[in-house]
Amino acid sequence: MIKLHDKLFKPYLSEAEILAAVQKMADEIARDYKDEVPIFVGVLNGSFMFVADFLKAYQFPCEVSFVKLSSYQGLTSTGIVETLLDVSEDIEGRSVIILEDIIDTGRTLQQLVHLFSKTNVKEFKIASLFYKSEVYNGEYTIDYIGLDIPNRFIVGYGLDYNELGRNLKEVYQLNQTHMINLVLFGKPGAGKGTQAGFLKEKYNLKHISTGDVFRYNMKNDTQLGKLAKSYIDRGDLVPDEVTISMLKDEVEKNSDAAGFIFDGFPRTAAQAEALDNFLESKDMQVDATIALEAEDDILVARLLERGKESGRSDDQDESKIRNRFDEYNQKTAPLKDYYSKQGKFHAVNGIGDIVEITGRLAKVIDAL
Ligand code: AMP
Repeated sequence: MIKLHDKLFKPYLSEAEILAAVQKMADEIARDYKDEVPIFVGVLNGSFMFVADFLKAYQFPCEVSFVKLSSYQGLTSTGIVETLLDVSEDIEGRSVIILEDIIDTGRTLQQLVHLFSKTNVKEFKIASLFYKSEVYNGEYTIDYIGLDIPNRFIVGYGLDYNELGRNLKEVYQLNQTHMINLVLFGKPGAGKGTQAGFLKEKYNLKHISTGDVFRYNMKNDTQLGKLAKSYIDRGDLVPDEVTISMLKDEVEKNSDAAGFIFDGFPRTAAQAEALDNFLESKDMQVDATIALEAEDDILVARLLERGKESGRSDDQDESKIRNRFDEYNQKTAPLKDYYSKQGKFHAVNGIGDIVEITGRLAKVIDAL
């Protein structure tokens, strides 16, 4: 097992397996092109190792050039493909064979095909060392494939995770440990946000606070922020359909997460059902709902104190705070039954030392 940044990766393909695939591709391409002088175009940065080994395996006259494109940020495909460098050689009437390290969704490829469609090349072919046929949704059929691999995040042999791992001779795959998805439950002021901050570090989870996402949108005066503001200012809940679709977006944006902490969501039966259905569609589930319990009077005092520091308008006025408690009692508290029926409800005393409370939560999570 190796660690790159925050993630663990386990061995996937040995150097020998990779080189065998490279040799196979070189032989196939040689069969088709050994009688002319093709131009191989490596796609940087990822393909540099593949191109080097490929050229050593391709023992016929050829030229080599490079283009640089990028579509990955972190572990997920951003969909943004930039052309950073164009092929400058005179390629008119020549056969061009693109050498890609990996093709997954095909977005980068689409850009390349577009780039070369504007030239007068004789033939244009695509060769990719790794190919994720499961997720490829491009129109272009890949001409030469080294290895068809499942949709796993891989690093090594030129491929990186946030720039690390390119120099590995072997290919490693992300070590997907069992995903943990938690719902932090509790009235405003119960300490959900504070505890989520500790738990996300301890368990490497993505923290999604719907309240924070709304505040971020209000601060940036987005459409969503404008819509949510009137509800939030009164201490009312934002309508379900708005909150649910926002939550889904946040999960989608973090599809590489090892798990989620949902903080402030779900707050209604409709939200709880929507969350279950949504997670199920992604082969995920809520593993536990943990409630932080504390008496109203303690919470009011905490919130008023927090309001002084944060300037949050809904934390500065006791009547708005009480209204949020009413919303909680009417709409959110019934979810206790919903999760209890699924055997997923756990209550934790939310009063005491912050570290101690984290310990109480960790005990529940470690027993999952
Ligand atoms: P919070 O920071 O979790 O206390 O949320 C602050 C405010 O954002 C709430 O009082 C609601 O107006 C709104 N809000 C946050 N999460 C939700 C949700 N799941 N459903 C509806 N409204 C929400």
